[in-house]
Amino acid sequence: MKQEIQVALEWLLALESEGYEGALVGGAVRDLFLGLPITDVDIATSAPLEVILSLWPAAKPVGKPPLQTALLQCGKVPVEFCSYCGFSLDHDLARRDFTVNAMAMTRLGTLVDPMGGEKDLTRRRLRFNGKAANRLDEDPVRAVRLFRFAATLPLFTVAPDSESACRDPGLYRQIEKMPGERIGREVTKALEGDICLFLDMLNGTGLLGAILPELEGLKGIEQDPEKHPEGDAFLHTRLCLNLVQKLTPDPAVRAAALLHDVAKAGYVPQEAGHPCFEGHEQAGADIVREITRRWAWPQELAETVTSLVRWHRLPCAPWPDSGVARQIRTRGGEWLERLFILGYADVLAGSGRLMPWMENRARALAALFRLEQAGRLVDGTEVMEILGLTGGPRIGEILEQLDEAVARGEISTPAEARAWLILIRDRH
Ligand code: ATP
Ligand code: MG
Repeated sequence: MKQEIQVALEWLLALESEGYEGALVGGAVRDLFLGLPITDVDIATSAPLEVILSLWPAAKPVGKPPLQTALLQCGKVPVEFCSYCGFSLDHDLARRDFTVNAMAMTRLGTLVDPMGGEKDLTRRRLRFNGKAANRLDEDPVRAVRLFRFAATLPLFTVAPDSESACRDPGLYRQIEKMPGERIGREVTKALEGDICLFLDMLNGTGLLGAILPELEGLKGIEQDPEKHPEGDAFLHTRLCLNLVQKLTPDPAVRAAALLHDVAKAGYVPQEAGHPCFEGHEQAGADIVREITRRWAWPQELAETVTSLVRWHRLPCAPWPDSGVARQIRTRGGEWLERLFILGYADVLAGSGRLMPWMENRARALAALFRLEQAGRLVDGTEVMEILGLTGGPRIGEILEQLDEAVARGEISTPAEARAWLILIRDRH
């Protein structure tokens, strides 16, 4: 058995020895039945928080009273102890979101299933626990969770009455008011599964604009039919996401595909009939920074997604004269891989003309190889010595220009770098 479950069962025994009840609940029970990896374990218990904290002094209280829980680490798996919400385990289970999340298992393997989770789990059905409208009224984010579970639990479908409850027109405004952090958590999880299905369910129930108005805004944004025979900017995004999902499980690339064209909503049509989207990658990066902040995404993920959106035109646009070597130097080969996967899907979701992508791929690989082989040919001190400078931003600019020359294959040794610096000095 999975080691963390074994440890959790020992902890249940410790609770029982003190005269309390305890059981595994929620996702861990569901995933045990489905044979999925356990990412976190929840234990519901009749013991109050003080008792849990005295039994496990290393446990950290989280949340605000009266909804405080105690968090303990079991290897890499977090285990959360929650005192019963209600008077008993059955009460506690009745308050959970979906039937398949409302099952418990005792230390000796007895399944506690007052809400019919087992039946739904067998059919791979996602269904709100009890009356769907009530569940959504208590917590509107459950609609987003429903779509997230549909996107991540293999072969699960949503019960029709649960889906139709999400079409309630009042729900939109309620979800809009929910903390962005909770939405961001569900989106992050959905990115690991069928993110396209997640998008389709949000869109199909009319709730997309409540969590991602930026994407809703792409509907009806006309594009050059030569470059985008597929249709408007929203359809393009949907198609690009679908392709990226097939190409990579990487959540950062998937998120970048979802958000790569968000800035297109801000462009107005020209006389020709469709807008010119010049600079939409820079504007998009600013919007994506805001979205990832709203969603409280971890810094590293937010930064990667933002940079991928910022540079998403690189794989298929005319190669820029400056700026690229620095990106490649600081972000490295892995970032480039991600960018070109995104770019590939972006092209295929539009014109399908891959030749510029191929040419830029060759350029980018050559630049990467050259920069990695060369390392730093000269350092800042040497630049200052040769140019007679004492400091300032000019040093960084010169080093960047040098990297550009290295990336183009014009300079590859320290001697060539010094000769190039002398040439610059003598020009001024
Ligand atoms: P995963 O860990 O993959 O996200 P999970 O089912 O463990 O799946 P969590 O968000 O960790 O999901 O929540 C743990 C359990 O707590 C759920 O299985 C469910 O029983 C309950 N739960 C979580 N969020 C809600 C909610 N908004 N409303 C009601 N019950 C919830
Ligand atoms: Mg969980």
